[in-house]
Amino acid sequence: MKKIVVLGAGYAGLKTVVELQKKLRGQVEITLVDENPYHYEATDLHEVASGNLPASKITFPITDVLNPQITTLILDHVDKVDQDKKVVELSNHQPLSYDYCVFALGFVSETFGIKGAEENSLPMTSVKEAEAIHSHIITQMKDYQVTKDPNDLKIIICGAGFTGIELVGALADARPRYAKLAGVTPEQIELHIIDASKRLLPMFNEKLADYGINLLKKLDVKITTEALIQEIQPETVLYQLAGDTDDGSLHKVEANTIIWTTGVSGSPVVAKSGLQARRGRVMDSEHLTAPGNDDMYMVGDVAAVMPPDGKRPYPTTAQIALSMANYVARDLTARVKGTARPAVYTYKSLGTVASVGNTRAFGEALGHSYKGYPASVLKKMIMNKSLMELGGFKELLAKGRFDLYH
Ligand code: NAD
Repeated sequence: MKKIVVLGAGYAGLKTVVELQKKLRGQVEITLVDENPYHYEATDLHEVASGNLPASKITFPITDVLNPQITTLILDHVDKVDQDKKVVELSNHQPLSYDYCVFALGFVSETFGIKGAEENSLPMTSVKEAEAIHSHIITQMKDYQVTKDPNDLKIIICGAGFTGIELVGALADARPRYAKLAGVTPEQIELHIIDASKRLLPMFNEKLADYGINLLKKLDVKITTEALIQEIQPETVLYQLAGDTDDGSLHKVEANTIIWTTGVSGSPVVAKSGLQARRGRVMDSEHLTAPGNDDMYMVGDVAAVMPPDGKRPYPTTAQIALSMANYVARDLTARVKGTARPAVYTYKSLGTVASVGNTRAFGEALGHSYKGYPASVLKKMIMNKSLMELGGFKELLAKGRFDLYH
């Protein structure tokens, strides 16, 4: 019986397993490897970091969707894939041999080598990191009661991409709770977001991006653009503004909470496995396999897929990860059954919606722009759809977002 090893139980890996279990029952042995016993909705990490949702609301046990007759779950860290020997090396288990490997190990925070970023700021790429951010903020708020240090009340977000914007929106919602802990008014909790770009949210048309930025301004988020962060010192962000003279002097802003959301790269296991990649993303073949290795599928955040215009790869999203997984399951099914492989992978985005807290959002879907309440409902429906696709009705009912009437 063919052995399929799937690495990572995020959107791409877990969806591949769910689909293979349906299509190849009794015809393959599947082994799924993940460090954690749970799947998490990476698109909701900001809700945990802000404390608006507990981690249990954005996670579910991986075993909930596994068929133990077909799939074995191994909880371990993947060290590397030996492509020549077709073996996966794990930290605490014997090596796993495979006929086909589905590499879906997701993303890590990218510091771009900026001095002090790793040591002096908090990343938000996993449930543990999101929980660490929340507990850090709570500590600062409580400390303020004793120290009266205004920097305890300040939170700086470095990077105003999708992640940074959604996070600052969630933090704005949480202000009244933080204020209560600190014994101040919500207006005294300062939220700053700093970005190198002139035009934020470039994935949206200018009107829609401006709408999103104005939403943040109305929530009294201090936005600094064209500010290239150069260094993070303890409790201090140092940046250069566009147009500054190059005399080496930098602007600085202080806060006792500094969060790092300037971008992500694919898992470091990509490089350890000798795969050619840019920021941990491998340029996939037409069947979503690694170049020159048709038995190794690269899916989700470790994959780069070019749209027909060939300019830059599609952005990494849960939507494309789930779409890749569906394709890989179909391709693998054809190969195992010895039937014709599906035509080359293509992707059509259904749209993108950004939330700004629980009740506000904006975005584009199926050629239309959405703002405010309808966008917020759409965002929750998108999240529910991905939960349903992965976890079925059980997880949808337990973890779905049905707070649509606000
Ligand atoms: P990103 O790369 O999209 O944004 C990072 C931002 O940080 C950019 O605006 C960049 O200008 C800024 N930046 C980078 N280096 C800087 C520096 N030194 N100084 C100042 N600013 C700097 O990263 P992200 O927001 O983490 O998103 C990662 C991927 O995940 C993207 O493809 C994004 O579209 C996707 N994502 C999608 C959703 C969604 O669909 N709901 C949500 C979150 C993330």
